[in-house]
Amino acid sequence: MKDSLSRTIDYMRISITDRCNLRCQYCMPHGLPWIEHSNILRYEEFLEICSAAATLGIRTIKVTGGEPLARKDCVRFLGRLKELPGIEKATLTTNGLLLEPHVAALAAMKLDGVNISLDTLQREVYQRLTGTDGLAKVLEVLEKTVAAGLKVKINCVPILGINDGEVAAIAALAAKIPVDVRFIELMPTASSQAFTGLTGEAVLSRLLEEYPDLSPASERRGFGPARYYASESLIGRIGLIDAVSNHFCGQCNRIRLTSQGFLKLCLYHEQGVDLRRLLRQGAGREELAAAIKEAILHKPESHCFGQEDESQGIKNMSRIGG
Ligand code: SAM
Ligand code: SF4
Repeated sequence: MKDSLSRTIDYMRISITDRCNLRCQYCMPHGLPWIEHSNILRYEEFLEICSAAATLGIRTIKVTGGEPLARKDCVRFLGRLKELPGIEKATLTTNGLLLEPHVAALAAMKLDGVNISLDTLQREVYQRLTGTDGLAKVLEVLEKTVAAGLKVKINCVPILGINDGEVAAIAALAAKIPVDVRFIELMPTASSQAFTGLTGEAVLSRLLEEYPDLSPASERRGFGPARYYASESLIGRIGLIDAVSNHFCGQCNRIRLTSQGFLKLCLYHEQGVDLRRLLRQGAGREELAAAIKEAILHKPESHCFGQEDESQGIKNMSRIGG
């Protein structure tokens, strides 16, 4: 459907858990008090909301977290999502550490994409940044996922003094294997305040030193805001997601559902609707759809990163799902 600014809303990200097996410094360095299980939606409840959203034109659903694979039966849930009438694409965003046993099943169900987060290619930096000595495992599963025929994108958040020197090396993964490598600007949250992210422009100028022919890719890729670039030297594409420095709110196509069933209309703003309450009060699909529709009509025009009033801001990325 269209919101009040005529933006087509056809993409929903759902965070199925607030729990995570990593402690990324800029995301949740010390963990957070876990949300009680009873307050997290059951898979059936997620499916009911996704079905209602599909009647309004949501066509792509991204499953994220926390770490989505830390929740039992995530893969079965993905399979059921893919079968929902109206849903054309289901994808997964993961840190990759729990992915290996599920690669074959995801390939068999023809999952539409797997995003693997990878901020560094240096073992010590990975360990320092995430709290776990897991780089080798992520690299291994990355290759395995690509080899299984799944469409893979790598997500990297470049941060000054941490991994900013690795931008070209990480981009070079797209020269070795058919993956898109996307660089995401660090968004301001309570945990990320101690860090300074690289802007998309800064990433691009570093990459141009290595790949002088890098230029905007002609074809459209993905469902989101990444600007893609191609080079003769690369099999995959390079994506820049410069949500902070170059906000693309005018083309925003997405809504977000938290693990507690709160429908957020913008990553930044608190505004939204408590669908869990409605569901648990007995709302059926039509009633849910009406609530989602009404909420979408009030989707904020833009985020306010970098402006005077950052008072709302993002509290916890891991609870919203990025
Ligand atoms: N655990 C999974 C993962 O790491 O891919 C899924 C959830 S995680 C919140 C999703 C994405 O959000 C990751 O790529 C992570 O790097 C990114 N992220 C977390 N905090 C961020 C921040 N402050 N700014 C930009 N991206 C952030
Ligand atoms: Fe966990 Fe993903 Fe946040 Fe890292 S970025 S702490 S893997 S939710």
